[in-house]
Amino acid sequence: MTPPTLDQLESYIKLRNLSVSPRKFLMHYEDSDPPWTNKPRKGQEVGEPVKNWKLTAQSWHFNNMSRADTHICSMCKNYGVYVYKDATGLPYWRCVDHKLKPKSGINKEMASEAFPHTIKLETVNKNNERNRQENALKEIYK
Ligand SMILES: [Zn+2]
Repeated sequence: MTPPTLDQLESYIKLRNLSVSPRKFLMHYEDSDPPWTNKPRKGQEVGEPVKNWKLTAQSWHFNNMSRADTHICSMCKNYGVYVYKDATGLPYWRCVDHKLKPKSGINKEMASEAFPHTIKLETVNKNNERNRQENALKEIYK
C-alpha cells in the first residue's frame, strides 16, 4: 500500500465527510512500529500492515461515531476535523474546506488570529476571570 499524503487524506475525508482528524490519522500510522501497521492483536509481535487506508479511515469514522466523538464544523454542516481555540480558550472545529490557513507575510498580531490554538497561554481563561471578579467583589462587600 502507498501511504496517503496529507492532501490525499484530506480529499478523501472531505469526499466521504468522515469525522476523522487527518493529522491524528497520519501521525498514528507514521509513528506505528513498523509504520502503517495496525496495533498487534493478542499473541502477535507485530501488527498487520494497513492494506487500504481509505477503509481504515472509514473504520476510524465509525469508531468515532459509536463513541459519539464527533464535531461539526463551525462554518458548515460537515464534520469538523481540525480543532482550534477561540479567544476565550473554548474549542471549535473546522472541516477540511474551512480549516484555518496560514497567511502570507505573517506578523505577531496576525499569528494570533491565524493560529488561535498556539497562543492559549496568552488567552484569558473565562473561569479564572470570573473567579478573579468574584473574589474582587467579595473583598468589597466583606
Ligand atoms: Zn466547514
